[in-house]
Amino acid sequence: MQLPQLLADTRACTLCEPNLPLGAKPLLHAGRGAKLLIIGQAPGRRAHDAGTPWQDASGERLRDWLGLTAEQFFDPDTVALLPMGFCYPGTGRSGDLPPRPECAPRWHPPLLAALPNVRLTVLLGRHAIEGYAQHPYRTMTDAVGDHARLLAARPVRVALPHPSPRNNRWLAKHPWFAAEVLPKLRRRVRRLVPRHAG
Ligand code: SF4
Repeated sequence: MQLPQLLADTRACTLCEPNLPLGAKPLLHAGRGAKLLIIGQAPGRRAHDAGTPWQDASGERLRDWLGLTAEQFFDPDTVALLPMGFCYPGTGRSGDLPPRPECAPRWHPPLLAALPNVRLTVLLGRHAIEGYAQHPYRTMTDAVGDHARLLAARPVRVALPHPSPRNNRWLAKHPWFAAEVLPKLRRRVRRLVPRHAG
């Protein structure tokens, strides 16, 4: 199926709507030319209300980690944004609920098949790492620390913590992430998305 039709079908999805507190409102973003794929968790309440993901402090930090301008980041032919769940799943006692389990199995395979130009996949947070790292990491920290192997493998992947301010403590406890992983990541991204493209 062609990507535009697939995106239209996905955006019309109501598969797990009975389990979504605010109803179905799939947020995803992809163009056939995308070279960078970001697999995150699921939209939060603010993204649901705004109808756009990553327009917040987490998005700013993520763009800084990648070395991308907002214009580059929100260009669907540069970056595809496909979280593990496309709709806001609701909030529990300790933050947002996990992405709906129906979503990625239903939609990721056809969407990924329609993105032939992806050269680097960024796995953001535990759910994306569990879904796509192709290795049984014990913790998210283990996956992030395995950056050399993930970046050398095919397909090329890298695991990152979620850029939410909630992870500030993790970032402070693991200074090697900023010192070692981010420079490597930015170099990779710069090869795919030259600065002048922004
Ligand atoms: S979370 Fe995914 S499967 Fe559920 S309604 Fe939204 S798009 Fe459909």
